[in-house]
Amino acid sequence: MTQTLSHFINGQASAETSGRTADVFNPATGEIDAKVPLADADETRAAIAAAGAAFPAWAATPPAKRAQVMFKFRDLIVQHMDELAELVSRQHGKTLPDAKGEVTRGLEVVEFACGIPQMLKGEMSEQAAADVDTYSLRQPLGVVAGITPFNFPAMVPMWMFPVALACGNTFVLKPSERDPGSTIRLIELLHEAGLPDGVLNLVNGDKEAVDVLLTDERVKGISFVGSTAVGKYIYATGCANGKRVQALCGAKNHMVVMPDADMDQTVDALMGAAYGSAGERCMAISVAVVVGEETGDELIKRVAPKVRALKVAPFTDPEAEMGPIVTADAKARIEGYIDAGAKAGAELVVDGRGLTLQGYENGYFLGGSLFDKVTPDMSIYTDEIFGPVLCVVRAPDYERALKLVNDHEYGNGTAIFTRDGDAARHFVSNVQAGMVGVNVPIPVPVAYHSFGGWKNSLFGDHHVHGPEGVRFYTKLKTTTARWPSGIKDGAQFHFKSGAEH
Ligand code: NAD
Repeated sequence: MTQTLSHFINGQASAETSGRTADVFNPATGEIDAKVPLADADETRAAIAAAGAAFPAWAATPPAKRAQVMFKFRDLIVQHMDELAELVSRQHGKTLPDAKGEVTRGLEVVEFACGIPQMLKGEMSEQAAADVDTYSLRQPLGVVAGITPFNFPAMVPMWMFPVALACGNTFVLKPSERDPGSTIRLIELLHEAGLPDGVLNLVNGDKEAVDVLLTDERVKGISFVGSTAVGKYIYATGCANGKRVQALCGAKNHMVVMPDADMDQTVDALMGAAYGSAGERCMAISVAVVVGEETGDELIKRVAPKVRALKVAPFTDPEAEMGPIVTADAKARIEGYIDAGAKAGAELVVDGRGLTLQGYENGYFLGGSLFDKVTPDMSIYTDEIFGPVLCVVRAPDYERALKLVNDHEYGNGTAIFTRDGDAARHFVSNVQAGMVGVNVPIPVPVAYHSFGGWKNSLFGDHHVHGPEGVRFYTKLKTTTARWPSGIKDGAQFHFKSGAEH
């Protein structure tokens, strides 16, 4: 029988009452893996109410005590690593090593959250004026909400709630309805770690639940990760309703390959960055900008056979290098882009369409695709395809390669591969993107730095996790204090003794 997943409200799994559910698929087989309830406004409000009721006590809990829950949660994630990775793979489709990598990157944010008391210490200026001290402290916002995408069902929620909770907020999480299994399991483990009831609540759902989170005045902050079209709506609606919003959105990450790049290193890096997780990563490299015709010819000559040889298989195959696409719709959308690219005149060097795997004929598999001679007017260049499709664009020189990256509407991550320190330094200084790699294809910052893009890849002022995450989830309060004092240099304190009373 198909399992029906639950919401998690006020410390308990809570059965749906809205009467609406959606199917969650195993993308390797095309079979229904579970049913997920889609919360209505009342269920979402119940989650907000639980978070609101839990806020005063949680905010008043000493930061070190809040951190103790994170320490225990960290240990439980380590103990349950295999189980969590399998849950990710079963509903998302990515290979087990990719799923473990994702859980591990989330775990690193939990480890960062264990040390957050250090970041809440505040600042003090003694004697800012005569007998006056000024001090600043950071306080939690209140109830905050997280809305997360399908592509990292474990990691992206962990970019948000460990930081928010460690800062003293309470939380309502709305995970992706396409693969929420691992997210729900994480929330169960967090409660096993000792999180008080109501501090974190999870509602499954779609736009109906999200719209309540965006408009309910009890919610003070919104963290969103997902597509740009939805992110713009979230940012505009959340801000119009007086909330602090950070919306991390779509991407089209370019890797510039200079003629002096180490080609072995570049090709290996490009294969992992373009085709890992079937390209369903906001930090995937989807465009290689090759500088010079010879560099382009050499790159295509080396990459094409590797793309053809990619082992596409379900996650249960230990040799799988790339799993299926998350849903049948997403697969059809990617195929549509490949059709459009070929029609627009790009050279389709490797065509990943039409792949069927014996025993998995109903799975959503696609092979890797490689386009050469892509030009900036083509939809395969302008749009985020979010699949295993790499576009090679040829640029005559470094300046025009840099201009291409900077002219694109997205600015999440980017990379340059070169042996020339001068070129690398110029690129880092002048490229318009939030995260930059030098001979590193996917420059995801470690958890104690912050993650986020520029341009249409992020709306809001703060990146996630690290110091920016703490700033987002806290508001600054600055106190200026003067105490009446009759004490002069050399004076004694005079307290009344008990006998004088
Ligand atoms: P999506 O925008 O379809 O969904 C994201 C979340 O928004 C989900 O929880 C979904 O239920 C909700 N949602 C969807 N439509 C909505 C609507 N009309 N109104 C309100 N809420 C709605 O994104 P996705 O397909 O799940 O994820 C892939 C996208 O996420 C890609 O564009 C990818 O680049 C992006 N992403 C960005 C980052 C980043 O850090 N910049 C990280 C991961 C993924």
